[in-house]
Parts: sequence; structure tokens; C-alpha cells
Amino acid sequence: MRLRFQSRARIPFFFLPMAALFLSAIPGTFGQAPSMIGTLSVLPGQSVSGFLEVPAREGLGTTIPVTVIRGAKEGKTLALVAGVHGYEYPPVLSLYRLKNMIDPQKLAGTLILVHIANLPSFQKRTIYYNPYDWKNLNRVFPGDPDGTLSQRMAYVLTEEVVKKCDFLIDLHCGDGNEALIPYTYWMVSGQREMDETGKAMALAFGIPHIIIDKTRSRDLNDSRYLGNTAVLLGKPAITTESGYLGKTDEESIRRNIEGILGVMRLFRMIEGSPRETAPPVWIDRYEVVYSGTDGLFYPSIKMGHYVIKGQKVGQVTDFLGSVKQEVYAPFSGILLYIINTPPTSKGEPLFEVGRVKEEKTQ
Ligand SMILES: [Zn+2]
Repeated sequence: MRLRFQSRARIPFFFLPMAALFLSAIPGTFGQAPSMIGTLSVLPGQSVSGFLEVPAREGLGTTIPVTVIRGAKEGKTLALVAGVHGYEYPPVLSLYRLKNMIDPQKLAGTLILVHIANLPSFQKRTIYYNPYDWKNLNRVFPGDPDGTLSQRMAYVLTEEVVKKCDFLIDLHCGDGNEALIPYTYWMVSGQREMDETGKAMALAFGIPHIIIDKTRSRDLNDSRYLGNTAVLLGKPAITTESGYLGKTDEESIRRNIEGILGVMRLFRMIEGSPRETAPPVWIDRYEVVYSGTDGLFYPSIKMGHYVIKGQKVGQVTDFLGSVKQEVYAPFSGILLYIINTPPTSKGEPLFEVGRVKEEKTQ
């Protein structure tokens, strides 16, 4: 994988061999091999930014902007991935801010920041889909080096990010069309130690609604989701949702940053312990209701409201204004997200309901 290189080391890039010699003279770095992400080479105490290359096929390729911050001290590697969906901005903005907040000299371990995983979608402002193959990147993991552009992007992320980290956070939010309350997916794999770590990550991130998600495939060849891919490769992971409707609000950005810092404290990458938060609301069942037809969606309930089983949540009309489908809550629970712009297409989500867990224990 070729890499366009941009180094924040004090010594210019073209003197890199000399820089390596210089760095090897600093106590604590002597003899330590550089970390490699793509062709990005990172020594202890360095922050390096560049691009992972997704090789072109039939003239169509792309790049993935990343920053690797390797602490001066030994520690774990935490991967933070934003922009798997290109219309989800708070996670993207959070990672650019975080890049400037973290001092490699005070960091233990390594942060891999994937700034915008899905650059084609980001640049063309598309929800869900990559505009060049109309696939949803978060449904094609673990990817395929010989597949379409999205599948090749997933493959690069699996090889260069998932396989090279110890833990992963896949940062999402409501897409450009989704009104969404913040929540975290804790993916339960059945592997006890991994699940306990994932739970600790979800709690340390600090969002008060946590979905206990036992629905993900346990077949790595059909992992589909980035977070699930990480879990199936033995890397504890959570998927977070903070932000909505294509906004760039400060509250959603700060929630992401505070969450990431909480997980970094959990893994002792920075000083301090995760902040105390109120016990979360555990969601033990969730369901997405999809549109049965093309047309316009009219929601009748707001995000975060509680709906009763059978309650009408909205309706879909055709392009001439006739009602074609009324949609109802499949069970009682919290409306985690609801589509809040008019366009809808057959098979696309309309809303997601989460059932609040009643028992105290997990
Ligand atoms: Zn998303």
C-alpha cells in the first residue's frame, strides 16, 4: 500500500533516516522498531499523519486520511474510526480536535485515528452509501481486495487498522437524515473476557443508553460491520452514536471527545480514571423498521420519546401524496432514531426502537 506522507516530526521528512538516528539517541526509543500502519512509520513520541491507499481498479481508487500518535511510553493501541458514513460529522470533527489535544510525550501506547474512513461519501455528501458503488461501507466488512471500491476500503481498514490495534471504537451518529439520541452498541460475542472489556469500554465512554447487542454474526467472512469485525478478530470494540441530522453541534463533538478520553483512561493511556457516571439505561432488544415503498416519510414521534407497542410512529406516502404505509412500534421502548427528512426508499430504515432492560443484572 502506497502512502502519501506528511510528518509532524521536528525534523523534515526528507531527513527521515537522519531523524531516526537522532531519535534512537533519545532514552527510551533506542532499539524500538517503528510501528507501521500502511507505509506510515511511527517511532515512540511521534505523531504522523498520512494516507492509506485503497488501490485503484478500473481507474477507481481512494485514500483514507489517518494520524498515528505513538506515545513515548509503552502501552496498548486504540483505534478510533470516524466517517465510515460520510455524512456523520461530529465524530470526524472530534478526531481532528483530539489529534491536537494529545501530547505524544505524555501518552502511553498508540492511537490510530482514522479521520474519514469513507472519503468518497464525505466528499459527495451521501448518506449511507459510497457514491461509486452504492454500497454501505458498514455492511461489507471484512472487505475484499478484489471487490468494489467499498469492499476494498473495508479490506484496507481490516488489514491496516483492525489487525494492528488492541481495541477499537467505531464512531457514528445519526446520518444526514436521521434524528438520533446518543447511544452505544456493546456487541456481545459470547467470549467472556472480550465481552467484559467491551462492556467496560461502553461504560467508560459514558453515553447513558447502551444497547446489549447479541445480534451480530459470529462468522468473520460475514462480519459486515467494522465493530463486529474487530470483535471477531479478538479486538474488543464498541460502536458509538453521538450526533444527528448532519449537524456539527458542539455538544455531540464534546460527548465524543469525553468518551474517547474516558476509554483512554480505562486503558491507562493517559492519567486519571474514567469519570463516574450515573448507571446507564440498558437496552436488551432493538429493532429497525424499514420502508416498504419509495416515497416520502412523515414521522409523528420525536427521537428519544417512549412508544407503546402498536403505536403509530409515522407514515409513508407515494410521490403523488397518497398514503401507502403506516408504521407502528413493534414493541414498547425508546425511539433511538427516526428518519427526519422526507425522502425514503423501499428497504431503507424508518426508525429504531430499543426496549429498556428490566432486570438489574447483566
Ligand atoms: Zn453511521
